[in-house]
Amino acid sequence: MSDEDLPGILSFLERFPDEDSCWEHLRDARWPDGFTCPMCGEDEDWIFLDERQRWHCYACGHQPSITSQTILENTNLDLQTWFLAASLVFTTKQGFSSHELARKLEVHQETAWYVQQRLGPHRRPLRPALVRARRTR
Ligand SMILES: [Zn+2]
Repeated sequence: MSDEDLPGILSFLERFPDEDSCWEHLRDARWPDGFTCPMCGEDEDWIFLDERQRWHCYACGHQPSITSQTILENTNLDLQTWFLAASLVFTTKQGFSSHELARKLEVHQETAWYVQQRLGPHRRPLRPALVRARRTR
């Protein structure tokens, strides 16, 4: 897996034009073979609550969100901004200062710094998701 596998800006925008496409991608990347409840292992008796981006498991009542147990959990930042940040950070060998990243993402410098901290030690889980995005085109 090389850096060339990651999408450029144009193919990124084609693949992730809005929030919905990002949610859909993350959902498919995390549960490619369909949902299985992380609490009880139930894989049939559930529904997906679209408006809340969560599953509801009828077997145990657990409601895991698409982002639960990921670096995207409990953030107010758009998923598209996270995806773009990951794409930029992972395709740039020399990296960005938080000020540069803030300008590119059009967010405050503090937010960019926070995003960098979260992405830093977690390159691997997001990287395969972005690579897979490229290949499904
Ligand atoms: Zn369950």
